[in-house]
Amino acid sequence: MALLTSTECISRYGAAYKESNMVLWDVPTELEIGVIPKRIYCNKDMLIPLTLALKALIATGYVKELKTWDGCFNIRQKRGARSMSLHSWGVAVDLNSSDNQFGKTYEQLKKIGKNPFTDGFLQCFRSAGFDCGGDWVKNPDRMHFQLRK
Ligand SMILES: [Zn+2]
Repeated sequence: MALLTSTECISRYGAAYKESNMVLWDVPTELEIGVIPKRIYCNKDMLIPLTLALKALIATGYVKELKTWDGCFNIRQKRGARSMSLHSWGVAVDLNSSDNQFGKTYEQLKKIGKNPFTDGFLQCFRSAGFDCGGDWVKNPDRMHFQLRK
């Protein structure tokens, strides 16, 4: 399954610094759960999928796993690669970063005493239209959820 790329983001949204598709989203009160900010600066293409993901987390109870909001928009390069991170266009979010360190699998994180997201949590994002970094065999990124292509 092919992932959304930075090249596609450039053709869809233009150069990241232009912030052309970015909005300051007033998060609906019913989604103001735990660590979710009251306002999120993100790509407008994220509004529906993110709403669906948060609703699914609440409906299933997996929302209890959510501990930290670690950001959406951030113009930077991808970790360990030369291309730009999809965070540069506000189409990805990071959650519970300290328990879901980059490059480590669920089992590796468990072994060092971390509490990585369960598959049920990831499923709430998959069903809402996201690709989960936790599903990547090469360079797993369990904190990372990005808009599906
Ligand atoms: Zn990320």
